[in-house]
Amino acid sequence: MSLTHPSPNHSARSHRVEALCVHWTGGSYASALDWTRRKESQVSYHAIIAPDGEVALCVPWDRASWSVGASRQPDDLRFTFGSKGNGATENIALAGGPPTKPTPAQVQVLVRLLRARMIAHQWPLTETWRIVGHVDLAMPRGRKTDPTGGAWLDLGAVRQAVSA
Ligand SMILES: [Zn+2]
Repeated sequence: MSLTHPSPNHSARSHRVEALCVHWTGGSYASALDWTRRKESQVSYHAIIAPDGEVALCVPWDRASWSVGASRQPDDLRFTFGSKGNGATENIALAGGPPTKPTPAQVQVLVRLLRARMIAHQWPLTETWRIVGHVDLAMPRGRKTDPTGGAWLDLGAVRQAVSA
């Protein structure tokens, strides 16, 4: 997959990839693309999904995107990345955020993309514990609530759909 909207904000991985992290961007698709391509933002995602299901690819999957900030792995000892959140995650953002719900097309494309990445890593589709939200990583806990805050995205249903 070649990049459609390359971001200058990425670095070498500091850990092997162990998790797929889902975000909301908090703004429109256009503003997220603009923010991600600006060096001064110091922010990027591997992929951003528009409300109509279009996917922007911004950072190569083998590089670390700058999505997570200060972080700590979830309380699950299958993870080993500690505080290296950006180093060990692939980051997929849904454009938008509360109070407007994600569109069915966005969620459908998210499930497809998560499945494709699980397969790319040769992870069994049953290993849905690898699918996390920014809320599960951010330190201090509660600093970020995306993408599940306010019941915005049902990540449990997404995990189930990926493994189905
Ligand atoms: Zn986030």
